[in-house]
Amino acid sequence: MARAAGRGRCRKGAGHQKISVQAVRIPDPLILGAGPAGCAAAIELARAGAEPLLLDRNEEVGDPLCGGFMSWRTLAQLDAMGVHTGSLGGQKVDHLRIFAHGREAHTPLPQPALGLSRHALDCAMRKAAVASGARLEIDTIRSLSDGCLHGQERDWQADCVFLASGKHDIRGQARPRTASDPALGLRIRLPASTERTALIGSAIELHLFTGGYAGIVLQEGGSCNICLALRKSALADGGGDPVSLLAWVASRNRHFAQRLGNDWKNSRIETIGAVPYGWIAQETATGLYRLGDQAAVIPSLAGEGMSIAVASGRMAARYWLRDGADGAPAYQRAFAARAYPPVQMAKAVRTLGETWLGSEAALMLSAISPALVSHLAERCRISMDSAD
Ligand SMILES: Cc1cc2nc3c(=O)[nH]c(=O)nc-3n(C[C@H](O)[C@H](O)[C@H](O)COP(=O)(O)OP(=O)(O)OC[C@H]3O[C@@H](n4cnc5c(N)ncnc54)[C@H](O)[C@@H]3O)c2cc1C
Repeated sequence: MARAAGRGRCRKGAGHQKISVQAVRIPDPLILGAGPAGCAAAIELARAGAEPLLLDRNEEVGDPLCGGFMSWRTLAQLDAMGVHTGSLGGQKVDHLRIFAHGREAHTPLPQPALGLSRHALDCAMRKAAVASGARLEIDTIRSLSDGCLHGQERDWQADCVFLASGKHDIRGQARPRTASDPALGLRIRLPASTERTALIGSAIELHLFTGGYAGIVLQEGGSCNICLALRKSALADGGGDPVSLLAWVASRNRHFAQRLGNDWKNSRIETIGAVPYGWIAQETATGLYRLGDQAAVIPSLAGEGMSIAVASGRMAARYWLRDGADGAPAYQRAFAARAYPPVQMAKAVRTLGETWLGSEAALMLSAISPALVSHLAERCRISMDSAD
């Protein structure tokens, strides 16, 4: 195993009242972000005898905005790492139901999947990382440059950083945002109800509308996760704010309205802006491994983001164990090549699904050739690495 030498503490960021420390020596990777990507890397590194440090801004695990659909590939990877999701109370998902233009079609999934909240998953992964020997510290990192992370509490210096801050960019390492009509995410989690349980059952539902889609799945205890990904222009068409948008989508899609029910206005709506769907990090500097959404952002319609996150964390750990900080550029190139096929396929599916004609085609295809839809769903998955 390669072990990089620590370089001690870096210059304090201006304007923060920070803890005074003699030195922050971090010889093994400093992993920024304890989401699926960061935790997967921490587990693999710690089990191989390294001493990774996981840094996250949240002491309490929240319930991050996500569709909550865990693909069979995500489940297989977690299983291989000894993170067993079977006991977490998720709901089995075995078919895909597509809605568009007031009609529906359904098709079996290639393999069983799971509806599980990110709270349950992230808690399990953090627990597994710490049990494996990773250290967890809490700090909000404001910027990253030359191996120095400027935190709210203190500065951290490492010879090797695993950047796994997910949907949130860190100053100095932001991903480019070039879309003229950027993608937004919105999530509302509704309590269990017999109506929704009967309607949704063991399906992952995609309700397609012009400019976006809503993904609906049941999770622990029968609660219902409704997650929309849409263009900014569709938000404007729908009234410009989350509540008006949900009401607007419901007014035009009766199946969606049935699932939303009448109790949704009591639930919190979360949003995220400018998701750089399709972006892939092709290169990186020595000592900076990019993981998860910081490595590749697959359109969420595919439900494969968590799988990509876990795959990148595991692969980065393997490269670091072999080549240390020097392995980062080769890892990034290899991971980009691995992520490219599913990301491209998901981009094509998303582009089609957002248009009137494309959503009509998706419906027809599901009705006449479920096998082809199943094949397309498989093509949106990240390949298993020979070492997985
Ligand atoms: C609308 C939408 C729906 C989606 N639905 C699905 C789905 O159904 N299935 C699926 O597989 N994928 C889905 N995804 C994708 C999935 O959510 C991501 O790909 C996945 O969360 C990436 O994991 P990660 O570990 O890279 O990042 P994250 O899960 O974002 O974790 C990042 C971690 O870093 C921490 N962090 C961030 N910034 C800082 C900071 N400055 N300082 C300290 N800590 C920090 C955060 O607290 C967090 O714990 C969806 C994405 C969107 C946008």
